[in-house]
Amino acid sequence: MRLELPGLFDLQVNGYGGIDFNGPDLTADRAADAVEQMRAVGVTRCLPTLVTSSFAQFARNARILARTTSTAIAGIHMEGPYLSAEDGARGAHPREHVVPATLDDFNRRQDAGGGRIVLVTLAPEVPGAVALIEHLVASGVRVALGHTAATPQQIGDAVAAGATLATHLGNGCPQMLPRHPNVIWELLAADTLFASLIVDGHHLPPATVKAMVRAKSPGRTILVTDAMAAAGCAPGRYTIGGLSCDVAADGRVSLPGTPYLAGSALSMDRAIANTVRFTGLSVDAVIPMASTIPASYLGTTTSGTVIAEWETETGELQIRRVTP
Ligand SMILES: [Zn+2]
Repeated sequence: MRLELPGLFDLQVNGYGGIDFNGPDLTADRAADAVEQMRAVGVTRCLPTLVTSSFAQFARNARILARTTSTAIAGIHMEGPYLSAEDGARGAHPREHVVPATLDDFNRRQDAGGGRIVLVTLAPEVPGAVALIEHLVASGVRVALGHTAATPQQIGDAVAAGATLATHLGNGCPQMLPRHPNVIWELLAADTLFASLIVDGHHLPPATVKAMVRAKSPGRTILVTDAMAAAGCAPGRYTIGGLSCDVAADGRVSLPGTPYLAGSALSMDRAIANTVRFTGLSVDAVIPMASTIPASYLGTTTSGTVIAEWETETGELQIRRVTP
């Protein structure tokens, strides 16, 4: 079945085609090359995502992204450093660079990024988080909750302060949780929060994806890749934000010697196909989760058109042609 879709929009991508947005070797040319390569898999706009690192490293790469002249870059997603310091909730973010949330620290980072930080993922239990959420929202920056072990009260306070997204819901939380209440149920039940999901088949089991999409509703579900530099590359060992990661033959990306996932090698076309398979929704119902919903969440639009073939037999989406 031939499909014409709006250009895909990825709110969370750490790198692509061997190029790491968090790496010390990032240049404006390499950043432009990465987003150009993403276009081949249908992504016409994205938020390159900078994870927790030293201020110097963050500022260097934010400056580079800010001066990368590509219309595909819709802004910067800052994931951290105001995150839970706990193992599990913290995920692959280095503990030594996790810091309290202050306006002063954010302003320094936003200055380095030339005002292009449009989305911040933080943990609501971090000291200063609620006050910072109020400030960010008032200044037009979207706030997402993630890498958190917050209590129901802390999540409620963050939502009241203006947070509007749960980042990669079901990941970036403690490995062991009480069955209820817990951070997943609270984020799922907060109706004003959109949820982003990593639907690579490794971060969330199929039944979890299906139940989450139904609970949140398709209109509040956003597909992200959370892809690291290895996306679009062969299996092997790669680096993100100075950390080593192993990419297995089945596409699972983990910290060497640990059970912790460290991003994905997912592409948006496969995220769409997996979501169709896991939820039973039609491909037409899923495509907005990867295009117009993330765009309108940010108050912007996607760009371009993707011509694709939906293989009904195999449940695969084949990207044929992309116009930016
Ligand atoms: Zn994350």
